[in-house]
Amino acid sequence: MRTDDALTAALNPAQLEAVTAPLGKMLVLAGAGSGKTRVLAHRIAYVLAEYQASPYSILAVTFTNKAAGEMRTRIEALLGHSIGGMWVGTFHGLAHRLLRSHWREAKLNEHFQILDSDDQQRLVRRLLKELGLDESKFTPNQVQWYINARKDEGLRAAHIEDNGNVVDRSLIKIYRAYEETCERSSLVDFAELLLRSHELWLSNADLLKHYQERFKHILIDEFQDTNTIQYAWISLLTRNDTNLMVVGDDDQSIYGWRGAKIENIHQFERDFKPVQLIRLEQNYRSTNVILEAANALIRHNDTRLGKNLWTEGKPGELITLYSAYNERDEAHYLIECIRERVSKGYARRDIAILYRSNAQSRVLEEALLQAAIPYRVYGGMRFFERAEIKNALAYLRLAVNHDDDPAFERIVNFPTRGIGDRSLITLREVARERQLSLWEAAKKVISETLLSPRACSAIEAFMQLIDRITIGLYELTLAEQVEHALTVSSLLSFYQQERGEEARGRVENLDELVSAAGQFQVEDNPQGDPLMAFLATAALEAGERQGEEGQDCVQLMTLHSAKGLEFPIVFLAGLEEGLFPHFMSATDPYRLEEERRLCYVGMTRAKEHLCLSFAESRRSRGAETMQRPSRFIQEIPSSCLQEIRPRANIMRPVNQSYYKSEAKQQQRLPTVDFYSNEQQDLHIGQGVKHKTFGRGTILNFEGNGSHARVQVRFESGETKWLVASFVELEVSF
Ligand code: ATP
Ligand code: MG
Repeated sequence: MRTDDALTAALNPAQLEAVTAPLGKMLVLAGAGSGKTRVLAHRIAYVLAEYQASPYSILAVTFTNKAAGEMRTRIEALLGHSIGGMWVGTFHGLAHRLLRSHWREAKLNEHFQILDSDDQQRLVRRLLKELGLDESKFTPNQVQWYINARKDEGLRAAHIEDNGNVVDRSLIKIYRAYEETCERSSLVDFAELLLRSHELWLSNADLLKHYQERFKHILIDEFQDTNTIQYAWISLLTRNDTNLMVVGDDDQSIYGWRGAKIENIHQFERDFKPVQLIRLEQNYRSTNVILEAANALIRHNDTRLGKNLWTEGKPGELITLYSAYNERDEAHYLIECIRERVSKGYARRDIAILYRSNAQSRVLEEALLQAAIPYRVYGGMRFFERAEIKNALAYLRLAVNHDDDPAFERIVNFPTRGIGDRSLITLREVARERQLSLWEAAKKVISETLLSPRACSAIEAFMQLIDRITIGLYELTLAEQVEHALTVSSLLSFYQQERGEEARGRVENLDELVSAAGQFQVEDNPQGDPLMAFLATAALEAGERQGEEGQDCVQLMTLHSAKGLEFPIVFLAGLEEGLFPHFMSATDPYRLEEERRLCYVGMTRAKEHLCLSFAESRRSRGAETMQRPSRFIQEIPSSCLQEIRPRANIMRPVNQSYYKSEAKQQQRLPTVDFYSNEQQDLHIGQGVKHKTFGRGTILNFEGNGSHARVQVRFESGETKWLVASFVELEVSF
């Protein structure tokens, strides 16, 4: 074993105080990168060495499984030996372990299975049907959200009053039916893991006592994101003599939307008196500039415990702020920067691109693929592999090729339209026996009435729907075709009715698909049928393997997935009002503060360099919308920022000083090829004069030849798209 000195050598005085404090209750409240996770690992090693504690007596809770693995490695490295027997994991992982050990007392079947989110939704859908409830009134997603939220609050169906509310009454009824089915089938969903193990302790005093005596040392990371049931779980397990350390940062609480309670931090000091409070204010991760910017940003939140981070580190490079013309320009700029950093010796894995919404990854992925830069989407799927995208594409595939069986199978009953498993089995049989596609088999099944009239008419209605899509495709642009399929199939309205962050992300992804189609038509396919080419590209992109675990890849992830991590270089893309802060949160002060915390989390992931970017216009649902830079940019002192604008030497839109920054502008080489318009001698940044609208500046081009359009921002402040061949734009300066 190492000496104590080795365990505590690399700690500052405040960290040392936390690591070596007498046993008791302790709250380490500290900002990002101040060494909370490091202190937690050292504390475990210290307790093991100093008090000769057994690994068996330690329970450590981390936020992700990945973090649990890292924690174990860190402690073993500190101690120089293995720590088998120690419980390290997420709340869910630990609860699962407990239920596996005590399935009998928990009234579970020995072979109980975990129900993941998809399975849970399917089960809810089935129950809605069985209970005869209207799926349009109670969407499976909404019900799923309701059940999980109640479980996270520690409530079973039997605990909830409907207070005469009919909707609540139905929801409670579904919840009860759901509980009964899970019970019968020995299924345990994620929220159930926690609730059930909490109940296990409540109803088994001996068992609880056993674990209370066993876990003499409990340590919890990312405490600011615990929810009600997790807090209750810990409270139950903790006795007066338990050594309990929690570490957290109120400024990084970003899971309020999932039931996390930031108040738990305040509650902790009251519930576990006396609590030793330790604050760490020295940051070891980021440069001074990054910290100053992050501190200034988070100061705009009113509801915070308040702290200021400082570092002894170097001032560091200024944060770059790139104002892109549009989202493609933004992606191309990121690629340039990545290439430059890699050429200077950075590994690709040192570079992370963070964004607010999953849908934003599409344009970035496309640019990375084109540039042949290996990347990995961390904690999520790549755009064209996402279920809602595959569903949408399946409608289009079936519309252009009725014999596409996988597409047929995927959507024949999605959204549900009463085509059950029995019908499908018959269809497959007929198809197999007569060597037909499923579509052709369906025709036979209908003409020969091989199924009940009701089943036949359900199938017929589906086929008519696909035909409606097919017919409607003519004369539409590619983006309109995609939109048409989304509407006629009712896929879009299906996802729009669902509740919760996940469903919102799906709708955003579908919108992004329309945008993808719009851009594809413009740039990628001068000849041939655009839809066929688009579908082929989508299939190829989905099939393209992303970087392997060990491969050196640029890391892409949402801001939520980035919590607790750090990277030398961080790009934070899409800092635009409506996107970030998200439009759903912008008007609610409480949610706006959570968005700001999310931005703070993102910025503080960066060790050496942070690059922020936004696009002046962005395609959304196939249409170009003008974007305003995020308010978060204005909240960063201009002295921390270096503004970069493409072709800054050329006339920029006048009177358009979006943000206060007066930082130096840096010139970038013009990207003429990307934007050039063959027909006229115009370029981006070019000053022009229009007969009616007056003087203006060219912002963007789209399309070629007679279809070319040009975007101009006029001095009146108005921005317009004009068809280049029809307008007479005079080059004015
Ligand atoms: P977050 O809030 O983002 O989870 P954190 O407070 O948990 O951050 P850590 O991840 O523990 O911070 O530490 C941030 C970085 O600083 C790590 O790279 C860590 O190794 C380093 N670090 C922390 N304390 C020290 C120290 N005393 N000396 C040198 N490096 C340190
Ligand atoms: Mg941490």
